[in-house]
Amino acid sequence: MAKPTLLAFLLILIFNITSSSFSATAAGDDSVYESFLQCLESNTNPQEEISKLVYSQSSTSYTSVLRAYIRNARYNTSATPKPVVIVTPTQISHVQATVICTKKVGYQLKIRSGGHDYDGISYVSDMPFFVLDMFNLRSIEVNVNDESATVQAGATLERTLEQNATDVVYKWQLVAPQTSNDLFMRMLLQPVTRNGNQTIRASIVALYLGNSDSLVALLGKEFPELGLKKEDCNETSWIQSVMWWDESQNLGKSPDVLLDRNPNDANFLKRKSDYVQNPISKDGLEWLWKKMIEVGKTGLVFNPYGGRMNEIPASETPFPHRAGNLFKVQYSVNWEEAGSEADKNFMTQIRRLYSYMTPFVSKNPRSTYLNYRDLDIGVMEAGKDSFEQGSVYGYKYFNDNFDRLVKVKTAVDPENFFRNEQSIPTLPNVEHDSGVTAGGSTSRSISSMLILIIHPHKAQNLTRMKRSPRHRSPSPASKD
Ligand SMILES: Cc1cc2nc3c(=O)[nH]c(=O)nc-3n(C[C@H](O)[C@H](O)[C@H](O)COP(=O)(O)OP(=O)(O)OC[C@H]3O[C@@H](n4cnc5c(N)ncnc54)[C@H](O)[C@@H]3O)c2cc1C
Repeated sequence: MAKPTLLAFLLILIFNITSSSFSATAAGDDSVYESFLQCLESNTNPQEEISKLVYSQSSTSYTSVLRAYIRNARYNTSATPKPVVIVTPTQISHVQATVICTKKVGYQLKIRSGGHDYDGISYVSDMPFFVLDMFNLRSIEVNVNDESATVQAGATLERTLEQNATDVVYKWQLVAPQTSNDLFMRMLLQPVTRNGNQTIRASIVALYLGNSDSLVALLGKEFPELGLKKEDCNETSWIQSVMWWDESQNLGKSPDVLLDRNPNDANFLKRKSDYVQNPISKDGLEWLWKKMIEVGKTGLVFNPYGGRMNEIPASETPFPHRAGNLFKVQYSVNWEEAGSEADKNFMTQIRRLYSYMTPFVSKNPRSTYLNYRDLDIGVMEAGKDSFEQGSVYGYKYFNDNFDRLVKVKTAVDPENFFRNEQSIPTLPNVEHDSGVTAGGSTSRSISSMLILIIHPHKAQNLTRMKRSPRHRSPSPASKD
């Protein structure tokens, strides 16, 4: 984790050193590749042969390189805007040269690491753009020495509405955010068909750091409605729990499967998010089930907060969603049909459900989780007032920390070179070349080791769902 931070810092530093050296003039796509390449070569060591790491649209590998890290099939169509050039650095100096030369030719630079951005903003733009693709820079150093992890984890318990799911979901809201710090219990809610009827399936997926006896005792006291028994539990190693979270059918396989980068493995999907700060009443839940069934396929994932999240002050890091939040909601829909009709249908579904959730979720701002990128909550358009537009999504993602982020951004990148549809904006009305410092003025007040795998449960009023090697988590959203 330290490396990307360091790299981002380096990018910013280099930009500041070089930003005044060039004037940004967009050239035509035909000539821009050549001048960009020349610039790269003059800014890197000749032996590095950087030209082999640059792909223009006429390169035979261009399409496969571009597609390799597209994780959402919605952005893998012929209509999706494509970068003029993709650069795939193998050294820090290549990154530096790419930043310098992209700025020189006046194109937008999109930076892609894993390509998991849900709305594809690391590799799509409406403006002429290059992609700085970081996939070659991926070394990981772990110092294990005598560290030994004793960990526990993972559970699925499934109920449907006919089996008192409302009571369980209601109780989950009270227990999951305040239970032991060793227990993470995620709730998955999905419309399903049972015996020809539409209903809602509620499943719990959990990670527990401890043995099965202590978990059964804990939940027997705090959450007796689950009826958890020791024989429903499996204990396994930490690394196997990682495999299970990644894909439940991977349990028991070699961890080497985690090294499979699975290029071109993308669904059509959309994600949105919310935060819930007060428990949703049972009446509210019953109403929500009706709306979910009415909407169609979109599922909800409730991720409990509390625990360590509560202990870190909201202003300590940019991530602001700390004490006061019971859980985060992920809205999740995947589909397989290509084309605009399916796209419109599923996008409408998820937006409707998001709208129905309004009474239950945080307000002023309606907070949002940055990792579940959602361009619906506002975008920064090129040439428009970036601060006004950035404030719309910025306060949702960062709450009061947004103000500080804007000040930092204004200080280190006053020309807003490093930008995307939802990047941090600069303050308005600053002289770009006057060396503005953090704290510049604004035209408005910017307020602001053992792992436990619990198998599907077999209680009196539950349907036993036997786990087979092919069994998958009850919702695709369970991976996110
Ligand atoms: C299948 C799937 C599962 C997911 N599961 C989870 C989950 O369980 N929990 C969770 O929190 N999130 C989850 N996410 C969301 C994901 O973690 C975030 O979108 C994350 O930001 C992805 O990082 P990335 O490097 O893969 O994305 P990218 O698409 O490469 O980049 C994301 C953003 O960061 C910018 N960027 C990338 N690299 C750099 C760089 N070196 N310097 C500056 N800017 C850069 C990009 O331009 C873009 O704006 C999931 C996403 C997918 C597709």
